[in-house]
Amino acid sequence: MVKTQSQTLTDKQQRVLNVLQRSEAPLGAYALLDELREDGFKAPLQIYRALDKLQECGLVHKLDSLNAYMACTHEGCRKHRMVAFMICKKCGLVEELSKTDVSKEVMQMCQERQFQMQQATLEMHGLCEKCMICKP
Ligand SMILES: [Zn+2]
Ligand SMILES: [Zn+2]
Repeated sequence: MVKTQSQTLTDKQQRVLNVLQRSEAPLGAYALLDELREDGFKAPLQIYRALDKLQECGLVHKLDSLNAYMACTHEGCRKHRMVAFMICKKCGLVEELSKTDVSKEVMQMCQERQFQMQQATLEMHGLCEKCMICKP
């Protein structure tokens, strides 16, 4: 067992997290499995189980449109209910935004409508700064 912040992760969960934290791009479950075969992972289900727990702890986010996972890049926002990502469709760069005005507004909208939002992911697709400058 390895302690991360206040969360206690199993060895397997920690290994999955380590791979995601090292990776610059988001990874799918099968890419993770390939990375972790030597560490005793044999089936995608083991990966999914670890990912579920990591998502629960707010350590990992899922990008539905890419069907891939990414380690949370913000130390202080373990419990954020709303995450926003900028995804470059050209180079694949994914950047996590936190404490956005969007999140504040969405939260307020939900509150006004007496809706208890538990989780939301906003995925913005477009071009990053670098790709916008160097056109093909
Ligand atoms: Zn995050
Ligand atoms: Zn780009």
